[in-house]
Amino acid sequence: LQDKIAAEADNPSITQDDKHVSLLVNAGLSANVEMEQFKQGDGVGLYRTEIPFMMRDRFPSEQEQCDLYKSLLSAHPSKEITMRTLDVGGDKPLSYFPISEENPFLGWRGIRLTLDHPDIFLVQIRAMLRASIGLSNLHILLPMISNIGEVIESKRLIKQAFLEVKEEAFQQGNMLSKPAVGVMLEVPAVIFQIPQLADHVDFFSVGTNDLTQYLLAVDRNNASVSSLYSSYHPSVLNALQKIFDDSIKCNIPVTVCGELAGEPAGALLLLAMGYRKLSMNAHSLRKINWVIRNTSISDTQELLQLLLHQESTEQVINLLEDYLEAKDLG
Ligand code: PEP
Ligand code: MG
Repeated sequence: LQDKIAAEADNPSITQDDKHVSLLVNAGLSANVEMEQFKQGDGVGLYRTEIPFMMRDRFPSEQEQCDLYKSLLSAHPSKEITMRTLDVGGDKPLSYFPISEENPFLGWRGIRLTLDHPDIFLVQIRAMLRASIGLSNLHILLPMISNIGEVIESKRLIKQAFLEVKEEAFQQGNMLSKPAVGVMLEVPAVIFQIPQLADHVDFFSVGTNDLTQYLLAVDRNNASVSSLYSSYHPSVLNALQKIFDDSIKCNIPVTVCGELAGEPAGALLLLAMGYRKLSMNAHSLRKINWVIRNTSISDTQELLQLLLHQESTEQVINLLEDYLEAKDLG
C-alpha cells in the first residue's frame, strides 16, 4: 500500500468522478520544510503562530515575527498562506505569560486573550502585514471566536494596523494588499450564526478538534474521558454538514483544518458533505491524496446519509470501517 501511495504522490488531488480537492498544510515552526514534502499542495491552510511563541522565553519582537512570516509568505507567493493569530491559553501555555485558571479551555484563550491585550495583537498583525508587503497571499485567521463582537473588534484593529503599514509601505514605494480575514469555526455557538459572521469575513476554517471538544463537553487531552472524544459522533457530523451548507448559502469559502481532515474516513465524509478544501499535517497529505484519487464522491454520499442518522459513534465507526475495507482504502 505504501508503494501505491508513493507512486501517486505527485498526481493532482482529483476524485474518480473528477472533483478537484484542494489539499493544504497545517504548519508550525518548519512550515517551509513541511510544504516541501508535498509540492503540489495548494498552500498553508493553518499556520499555528503560537508554536514559535512557545519555543521562546519572551514575546518575539515585531521584527522577529516579521522575518519569520516573510520567509513563509515569500517562499510561496502564488499559494495562499493562512496565518492564525496567537491561540495561546487552554492547552498551549506561554512560560513567560503564565495564566492560572480553573477551566483553561473555557477561559482566557485565543482571541479572548489577544483582544484583552491589543498591544500583543497589533504587534502580530503589523508583523504579518509588513511581511506581506509586495505580496498578496496573506490570509489572517482568528481563533476561538464565539461572538460577532470579537470579529468586529479584531477587524477594527486589523484595519488600524493596515493603515499604518500601508503608509509605511507607500513611503518606501511599495504596495500593501488587503489580507483576507477569516474566522475559525470551533466554538459551537457560531454554528448558529454563520449568516451573521458571513457579513464580516472572507472565509471560514473549521477546527474539528475544538469543535468536537466543545460540542461533546469532553476535554481533548484528558485520558479519563478520551473514549468519549470522537469527531465521528453523529452530532459532530451533523454540525459539520450544517456548517458546510450554511457557508455555501452565504457564499463564503470554507476549509476544514482539524485532525479529522487528515484521516481517510474523515476526509471521505467531509468530501461527501461538500467540503473541497482540507488542511492537514504534512505527514497525512500523501495518504489523503491517494484516498481522494481512489474515491468517487457520489459513492460516499449514500454512506454519509446513513451515518448522519446513526445513534452512536460506534455504529458510525463500524460502518466506516466496513466501507473503507470494501473499497480497499483502509
Ligand atoms: C482545531 O481546534 O481543530 C484546530 C485546528 O486548532 P488547534 O488544534 O490548534 O486548536
Ligand atoms: Mg482550535
